[in-house]
Amino acid sequence: MSWSFKLLSVNGIPIRIHITFLLVMVWAAYNGFTLNRADRVQGVAFMVALMLLLFLCVLLHELGHSLVAQLFGVHVADITLWPLGGLARIARMPQRPYQEFVMTAAGPAMNILVALVLSLAAVAWFGPDEMLALIASPWLLYDLIGDMSIESLWLVLIANNVLLAFFNLVPAFPLDGGRMLRAMLAAVISYRSATSIAAAIGQSLALLLGMAALLAGDLFLAAIALFVFFGAWQEREEVRTRVNLHGFTVRQAMQPVGMRLHPMQTLSDVAGRIVNSSQEAFLVVDDDRLVGLLMRPDLLRALRKAGPTATVGHAMRREILRFAPGDPLIRASERLGRGADGVVVEAGQVVGTLGPADLARLAELLSAYPDALPRPS
Ligand SMILES: [Zn+2]
Repeated sequence: MSWSFKLLSVNGIPIRIHITFLLVMVWAAYNGFTLNRADRVQGVAFMVALMLLLFLCVLLHELGHSLVAQLFGVHVADITLWPLGGLARIARMPQRPYQEFVMTAAGPAMNILVALVLSLAAVAWFGPDEMLALIASPWLLYDLIGDMSIESLWLVLIANNVLLAFFNLVPAFPLDGGRMLRAMLAAVISYRSATSIAAAIGQSLALLLGMAALLAGDLFLAAIALFVFFGAWQEREEVRTRVNLHGFTVRQAMQPVGMRLHPMQTLSDVAGRIVNSSQEAFLVVDDDRLVGLLMRPDLLRALRKAGPTATVGHAMRREILRFAPGDPLIRASERLGRGADGVVVEAGQVVGTLGPADLARLAELLSAYPDALPRPS
């Protein structure tokens, strides 16, 4: 269960809302209720509207990335709105650095566009004099929110879009600014070196920000710094793996089939047989027909939850990814993601299994000794 539900679709992209988002709305309503003692209904309406509109700005930012990604023929799985922001799941980065640059810039650009349109509308609506007075006097967010008028709502939205654009443009990988930096570097040096440099800059900035936040006692900012630091590290590792695997095929990384299981076998029986085995994925075969795949972690979970008398058929996965031995490893790794293993099929026969752990192991070996395998060229 993903704890999020679909709200609507934009251009074929499902927009999902995480369940914790509702807690934020309850929190906003409660704040409106206590802040505006004179008119509690107005207080609640204001705060709820403010929250919804703030998240609409985040959604527009993510849509900026996603719609441009679609323009370059890249699949966008969905956009999920979390209490801390939005996340578009984009299948892969586009092939060319300039495409990655445009796709990444489209997010902050969307916020700048919204801020511009709102500012122009505000000047036309309230008149330049009142706008100036508003900007000059209570520019503090708290004062603005305490005021609870349409004008203040408008100004907070403008400020939020400006803030979203500039925060994301900080060149701290994996923020948008860091990705744009990487794309610019990748136009002149290799993708791998560009990622390493962008990640190093991102991590240095995150460290500085984290230390400043801790000194100032700002835990929220420190959490963001931590997120940036590990995000940069993780993405650099992923790019290393991808670059190392380039040019190899599934056949070179797959594992032999090994021990097979039957769906009616009990888990205690399986546990007894695999004590001395390091096999990660087990084919489940019935009448010479592949019916499922049992992963070691699934086995352990089922042993704890359903007990040793449960059967393999109860714990196995029925949906199995299939690869051909000649498939490029990079494509296979994109399809595998972080999930379970898949099987390798040749002439109707399962000849091996392939999982994220196999790819990581191979990439590790190749980074220590690039000539460990002959590279087909
Ligand atoms: Zn972005």
